[in-house]
Amino acid sequence: MNSSRWASLKKTELHRHLDCSIRASTLRELLALAGESVPASSSEFAAKYLVKEPMRDLGSVLGKFLAAQKALSSREVLARITRECVEDAHAEGIDLMELRYAPTFIQDGHEHMSFDEIHAGILDGLKASSHLPVKVGLIAIFQRIKPIKVAENVLDFVLNHKDTFVGVDLADDEDGFEPRPFEPLFAKAKANGLRITVHAGEAPIASAADNVRIAIDRLHAERIGHGLQIANPEIPRSRETLEYVAKSGVLLEICPTSNVLTNAVPSVAAHPLPKLRQAGVKVSINTDDPGVFDFNLTHEYDAVADALGLTASDFETMNQDARRASFL
Ligand SMILES: [Zn+2]
Repeated sequence: MNSSRWASLKKTELHRHLDCSIRASTLRELLALAGESVPASSSEFAAKYLVKEPMRDLGSVLGKFLAAQKALSSREVLARITRECVEDAHAEGIDLMELRYAPTFIQDGHEHMSFDEIHAGILDGLKASSHLPVKVGLIAIFQRIKPIKVAENVLDFVLNHKDTFVGVDLADDEDGFEPRPFEPLFAKAKANGLRITVHAGEAPIASAADNVRIAIDRLHAERIGHGLQIANPEIPRSRETLEYVAKSGVLLEICPTSNVLTNAVPSVAAHPLPKLRQAGVKVSINTDDPGVFDFNLTHEYDAVADALGLTASDFETMNQDARRASFL
């Protein structure tokens, strides 16, 4: 039963990483099967494997993502976590969802699996949940921290499965990993009919606003993952980028609590979401990594309603914009 105050809203989620969306109870089970010594108490489990409070350093975060990676050990497991992800989305009133994953991230932990096998597991999961009234689209992620050659392999794989992907994305740490080298890859993806979203302007680094601009102008991004730093006056060229994004109609996939947990903003109350909307930027609300963060989209609606005073009618507007910006 969905008894939240947003139960009757039809929700769209555009930014959710499937490979970090494992239910906590399933993660516990899978890690135990993988031979991990999983603590019995839920608070100790959370401390070891989940991200519940802002992280001090990237290393501690990566460790937690690696635990999720460890769990994704077979086609059957991938089918299960995909099915559960759709079931959980349906339970909270999501009827349109785009799920993204990085084939290289899953394969790094399980070298015996090919990209094809990983993808087959995910498609099995979508089939097993296809009786639910949730439209689901898949987005493939290039990891910007890996060599271009690796991303080229990922794109070849995506093009071989073009009918089961709606788009591509560039993700991971922006600091020191420029978007520009990926330009030819995104041109090829676009020429092949794939839609494009790019993680950019997430952390408060000096290149944050420029990365958003490059993502739109050179990587053909129709949406931006995060992009919140264009509302940060301390970032070079943020003001003109904010105006540019508003004018372009490019939607920002905003993930409020994720931004707090990664220290992109100090709190949800300090999130520039209202400033972005006031400037005329289209936005949607998303979870990012609901498994590792251990919350759902309803939690995010509650968080921005409580901290920033957003109402059901604001959520309706944002959901309409999300629907229009969806690649489905
Ligand atoms: Zn993300």
